[in-house]
Amino acid sequence: MYLKHWYLRAGFLVAFFLGAAFFGVCRAEAAAVAVTGDIVNLRSGPGTGYSKVGEVSRGTQLAVVGQSGGWYKVRLASGALAWIAGWLVKPVAVSPGSETSRAGSLPSTQTTECWVTVTGDYANLYSGPGTNYAKVGEASPGTQLAVIEQSGDWYKVRLQTGSEMWINRSSTRPVSGAVSQVPVSRTRDEDGLIGFDAKESGPVTEIGFTFVRPVDAQVSLSAVPPRLVVEIAGLPSGELGKGWDFDSGIVSRVYAEWVREEPPVARVVLDLKTSGAVSYQTLSSPDKRVLKLRLAAGPLYAVSGRVIVLDPGHGGSDPGALGPSGLQEKDFNLDVALLTAEELRGRGAQVFLTREADQYVDLYARTAKANSLGAAVFVSIHGNAAESPRLASLKAGTSTYWYAPADDPVLGFQREKRELLARCLQKSLVDKLGRKDLGLFTANFVVLRTATMPAALVEVAFVSNPEEEGLMRADWFRQAAARALVEGLEDYFQQAG
Ligand SMILES: [Zn+2]
Repeated sequence: MYLKHWYLRAGFLVAFFLGAAFFGVCRAEAAAVAVTGDIVNLRSGPGTGYSKVGEVSRGTQLAVVGQSGGWYKVRLASGALAWIAGWLVKPVAVSPGSETSRAGSLPSTQTTECWVTVTGDYANLYSGPGTNYAKVGEASPGTQLAVIEQSGDWYKVRLQTGSEMWINRSSTRPVSGAVSQVPVSRTRDEDGLIGFDAKESGPVTEIGFTFVRPVDAQVSLSAVPPRLVVEIAGLPSGELGKGWDFDSGIVSRVYAEWVREEPPVARVVLDLKTSGAVSYQTLSSPDKRVLKLRLAAGPLYAVSGRVIVLDPGHGGSDPGALGPSGLQEKDFNLDVALLTAEELRGRGAQVFLTREADQYVDLYARTAKANSLGAAVFVSIHGNAAESPRLASLKAGTSTYWYAPADDPVLGFQREKRELLARCLQKSLVDKLGRKDLGLFTANFVVLRTATMPAALVEVAFVSNPEEEGLMRADWFRQAAARALVEGLEDYFQQAG
């Protein structure tokens, strides 16, 4: 009896100190916020599309218990939970012993959610807090994970798929700020039927509208005055959301207004700075509640403004496959990658290569670079080889590899996009090069497994095949392969958004 009592007490102390350590790590995230707007709405979820559940006035302090996108989940004095827009509050320091600093000793589901980034090489994920538990997954460098609990040197983390597992603290570092993409500019008006966010990446301005209910939206461009107009049918009556404060290289002002009361038709107007050529693309979500616009002065390519990592396979001491007349795969891979990069840069993409010369680069270093850049896609470029010289003349054609097992905690989340990327690249290569279509394959290659973004590996043709080796030596074929990869990426970004 005495012993049991002692254990209980020890258990409480351990829990308390772990709670304190947990907060030490998460200090980068706000544990409490103060309201900066005059009167700010509280909502049932992280967005203006959720119902209003209350109001708070300037200066009110709220304990933060979670975060999603630009929104904070807060606990009110009554104990109730609600969401508030991140741009209408500011983080505040919490004095020891106050309501929020005690949150660490509450059950883990109520602790402040914070984020860590996986550092170094890929890290093992376990079913419990220790290496003696089953290994259940791997997280690549750069992967961001939500920490929901701590035990000793171990963090319990939640993956994008919602599954929970453990990672050693030494494999991570804390992330400061919100983990999701934070737009450069946001609406300052969180009331209204239309939510707005916008950002500028390179020559491209990206604007997103979120509607309180599904709408039919028609986009049209007018030259005089220069503006883009989105006509919207299907909204209920009410305040649309005005005073959006956004200014980019191409857009000078964005505002919404009612065009007609019955049936209600509204429009959003984007005043443009140029009367010259403007291109735009639109992407509507399947539920018709989100409309995304991409605009650029001059031609707009889907790859424009994207961070793309190209990976010329092999290099240096590793020549890759060898052709019957001596072509080394590594040289073909590099040349095609350089040509592809040039073409992509001409279309406004930000392109990085994992090697730009004939040098050896470790496979893990290749994806680590892409992960740290936060690239949108990773494309590894290779030439194929028959398993034996006996098959050299028989094996020919183009194939593309991808990897995203549905049950993989990290990659399964990207399954559709990874397959789409592989499909777009394969189709374009086959169309442009005219080699035999060997199709898509899945394979657990290091570069496909450890890239945290959609990744594909193309085998353009067979170095080991005498005919294809001859083609792979030719400049025109290399140019055509590069153009095919560019068109494949265009196709991918058009579909993936
Ligand atoms: Zn290769």
